[in-house]
Amino acid sequence: MSRLLIAAAILAAAFLCAALPLPAPPLELPAAPSGPTARGSFHIHTNRSDGSGSPDEVAAAAARAGLNFIILTDHGDGTRKPDPPKYRDGVLIIDAVELSTQAGHYIAIGLPQTPYPLRGDARDVVDDVRRLGGFGVVAHPDSSKPSLRWHDWNADFDAMEWLNADTEWRDEGEGQLLRALLRYPFRPAETLASLLDRPDSTLARWDELTQRRRVVAFASADAHARAGWMDDDANGYRSGWLLKVPSYEASFRTFAMRVTLERPLGNDAVADAGQIVDALKRGAVYTAIDAIASPAVLEFSAAARTLTARTNAAAGVTIVLRRDGRILAEQPLPTLTVEAPGEGTYRVEVYLSGAPGNPPIPWIVSNPIYLRPETWGTSSPAVVATPTITRGIQGGPWHTEKDAGSSAAVRQDNYPAGPVEFTFRLADGERAGQYTALGIGVGKALTERTHLAFTARASRPMRISVQARHPQSGDRWQRSIYIDTQPRDVLVKFAEMTPVGAGPPFDPSLADTLLFVVDTTNTPAGTAGTFTIENLRVER
Ligand SMILES: [Zn+2]
Ligand SMILES: [Zn+2]
Repeated sequence: MSRLLIAAAILAAAFLCAALPLPAPPLELPAAPSGPTARGSFHIHTNRSDGSGSPDEVAAAAARAGLNFIILTDHGDGTRKPDPPKYRDGVLIIDAVELSTQAGHYIAIGLPQTPYPLRGDARDVVDDVRRLGGFGVVAHPDSSKPSLRWHDWNADFDAMEWLNADTEWRDEGEGQLLRALLRYPFRPAETLASLLDRPDSTLARWDELTQRRRVVAFASADAHARAGWMDDDANGYRSGWLLKVPSYEASFRTFAMRVTLERPLGNDAVADAGQIVDALKRGAVYTAIDAIASPAVLEFSAAARTLTARTNAAAGVTIVLRRDGRILAEQPLPTLTVEAPGEGTYRVEVYLSGAPGNPPIPWIVSNPIYLRPETWGTSSPAVVATPTITRGIQGGPWHTEKDAGSSAAVRQDNYPAGPVEFTFRLADGERAGQYTALGIGVGKALTERTHLAFTARASRPMRISVQARHPQSGDRWQRSIYIDTQPRDVLVKFAEMTPVGAGPPFDPSLADTLLFVVDTTNTPAGTAGTFTIENLRVER
């Protein structure tokens, strides 16, 4: 569609509006006493990636919408130094990053500048974000666009979006979208809210996960403030825009999160951001669709086994309490008190009559209260049974492999048992398949073994891809590992190795070469460094 056509559509709206019923304005509710909270919006793109507004313009829009904070999530790989938290127009700006993994997009909040680009397997990016102190959120998990959907539900992520505005409009019909475009100029936030449906499958997925471990969820604006070309570029980002709709302000007025704080926000941006991120990590956050009714207040607490949920809406309100995903209690009153029948994961959804959506979108969604034993959900360190068979293969022979422009050298001073030192330099320039690899022929040594074990360290924090190669087909299988200047014992389970590209599951008896690969997935072009492998062995 050209700019002209869109402009014509907007003009047509002026004539059609009389015939077009507009969505109702938000219900005005009495404020209710509650502890300190902060209202904010999460998942916002600025003109530093594919959004249309500058960070200051976005903050100004947030101020007009009455928000206390915004979390900017421009696309990146973590190597850009995040801006320190700051106040603009009374709105706290928290700078986060939306990372691209092979399984989908993962937003990291509170992540410092990373020592290498975070990319590749989702499980590795999730590990890296955690090691570096960030808090990670799975973005648009159920987008109708396969390239945006999340594919690795076994990854140990911290949080997920239960609602994503971008996903929501994608599943509406063309007629519905056209009507929305016509209504938008008159009631922007209410029109955006009219596109929301209860995302049943995403919420069911969340409920399934929280029966095993803690997972935080909240709604995501996925705000770009532009519409137009809806194509994805090579990185899966939408590029180009025709109109700055929906505006940031309309997105912020549609829904937002409420973070429950220990003390009110002050003027110290760093301390205030720390408080908000800590609250997100604890799950002290609920989502409210403000375009349905405002202000939204939910108090959800447990005293021993007595669960109490209370809202400030009086008429037409229904509180639904779920235990492990199933409805435990449902009451058309602003307060619900229930004795928990036992252990479980409990959360509430609050509905208001007349809310849009099919099924209707809940006005408020809380995070869970986990009535679980102390130790529940803490993942125990991977236990590897004492190996019954160990065979040292440190003796090699070792060799190097690389692309034409890169350089690589291998050195083993004490043959055959001494450490092997690998020195590499990736060729400069754009990412274009530069790689260097330390290789070792292993014959049939992997057959009937379950894992590799070794001790490794590197001249800098980095990831190397441990690969096994089949001699005839050249097929490879890989598992990425993290190493740094401290020697660490590494274990690579064959069962966790995945094909490089498409291919069958790994069969150790088919591989005769192991490779320790440095490539541009996690190492920038032009980087030089060394790593050392000691005591390489196969075990079972
Ligand atoms: Zn995304
Ligand atoms: Zn995004």
